[in-house]
Amino acid sequence: MPALSEQTILDCLNQIRDPKTGRSVVDLGLVTGLVIKGGNVGFALEIDPKDAPEMELLRKKCEQAVFALPGVTSASVVLTAEQKPAAPRAAAPGHGHAHGQPQGQPQTVAKPTVPGVAAIVAVASGKGGVGKSTSAVNLALGLQSLGLKVGMLDADVYGPSLPRMLGLKGKPQTKDGKKLLPMENWGLKVMSMGFLVEEDTPMIWRGPMIMSALQQMVFDVEWGELDVLVVDMPPGTGDAQLTLAQRVPLAGAVIISTPQDIALIDARKGLNMFRKVDVPVFGIIENMSYFLCPSCGERSDIFGHGGARETAKELGTDFLGEIPLHMEIRQTSDAGTPVTASAPSSAHAKIYRELAAKIQEKIEAGLGIESGPRIIIE
Ligand code: ADP
Repeated sequence: MPALSEQTILDCLNQIRDPKTGRSVVDLGLVTGLVIKGGNVGFALEIDPKDAPEMELLRKKCEQAVFALPGVTSASVVLTAEQKPAAPRAAAPGHGHAHGQPQGQPQTVAKPTVPGVAAIVAVASGKGGVGKSTSAVNLALGLQSLGLKVGMLDADVYGPSLPRMLGLKGKPQTKDGKKLLPMENWGLKVMSMGFLVEEDTPMIWRGPMIMSALQQMVFDVEWGELDVLVVDMPPGTGDAQLTLAQRVPLAGAVIISTPQDIALIDARKGLNMFRKVDVPVFGIIENMSYFLCPSCGERSDIFGHGGARETAKELGTDFLGEIPLHMEIRQTSDAGTPVTASAPSSAHAKIYRELAAKIQEKIEAGLGIESGPRIIIE
């Protein structure tokens, strides 16, 4: 199969016309930032922010047309708009524009909201195995213990672990044949690919399949009224993560890292990914930060300690706190009885609650600023 050329994509887009003017998106000069990587194609349509709702249709048409081209395995189109020089900047707290931001690439992304869900928070990590899912579950339960209605979406399609960590089995039901009802345990409403496919089944995902599965898990689930939907992101910073961060109206992201240098390098990548798509990073949490000996109480900094705090400072984001490496956390997490819910008066539950309170503060500060449809202007 010959490599895809820019011209092929532009020829295809030349057929897509703006219904208002009857001119093609190429003629109108709307297409910017075309990137072709193997079979993955991405570009932006530069629009006036006030046209965002009608341009969404055009965006979809472009995406479908490009996706239908032979050799294209994924097509990702976003709406962008140049910021008017005098317009005030709609920035949320913790939103460090000064760092790692691509310069001179104005971007506006209009994202559909999820009905009934007030805020969506991503829990992410630059790589697997750092305790992202364990932390996400306990932070969700911590938010719940603060009186919030909380849901969880397991977006880790490669290794969905929420069913096991939350002790959930069975298949989600549907009321109307269109929307899935989330499963429930420990007071959380949960949706996971793990409910639909056995945990041990190897899953081979192509980019567009991941996106359509994830989009359905966000938008085609009857979440009801939620204060927060916590998304356990797939580990890493590949296309699936980036597209998810672009498509889902995230109020912010929390990055989980272990103290080792290597994990922190990955954490930086995660942080920069969210910044690139203008999602506020609430901060970094250091997991498996230190070891408290259960018999003598002595503290050991097995992986070194404090790396995440320093990285957070360097990167201009908040350091939210530390979670120790402890058998109780592992056992309860792997047994489907997460510590924050099963032992709410334990020291570990308290740590997760305190971290959750910081996240709640960030969410609320952000909601105070954002109103109406989320159009993010870079
Ligand atoms: P990830 O989602 O980053 O792949 P998991 O949350 O699945 O990581 O955690 C990997 C393993 O580490 C699990 O067995 C989990 O129980 C354990 N774990 C995570 N955080 C801690 C911790 N703070 N103390 C002890 N074990 C932990």
